[in-house]
Amino acid sequence: MVNITYDESAAPVWTERAHERILTGALVTRITESADGARTLFVDGECPRCRDECDFALSLETDVGLSTREVGNLVDQLNEESANRAQIYTVRCNCSGRHDAPVGKRGCGAFFNVFAPSSEIAGRV
Ligand SMILES: [Zn+2]
Ligand SMILES: [Zn+2]
Repeated sequence: MVNITYDESAAPVWTERAHERILTGALVTRITESADGARTLFVDGECPRCRDECDFALSLETDVGLSTREVGNLVDQLNEESANRAQIYTVRCNCSGRHDAPVGKRGCGAFFNVFAPSSEIAGRV
């Protein structure tokens, strides 16, 4: 078994692999909208880096998502693109695997972009 140590990495390969997983169904993204219009992005499935199970529920207060607040400078490059394409969201692995993460952090540290078409609101809650 490969031992994956915590590394805050926004390498494009994680986004590529995340997209592959979305296509095969190993990673599922959906957006739900509540009665008052608040939207939430759900991402469930395999982390593209450590392959542990991730489970996100992210509030979408604006169309560009939470990327800037969440990840800061690390993904500035990615965010430029994200800002122009509102349905791309940057998330960070939040698996419960052991990766020697710093105190207060979870997951293996990988950041990646996921695609969540807002035109396909999955369901209303
Ligand atoms: Zn991970
Ligand atoms: Zn993990």
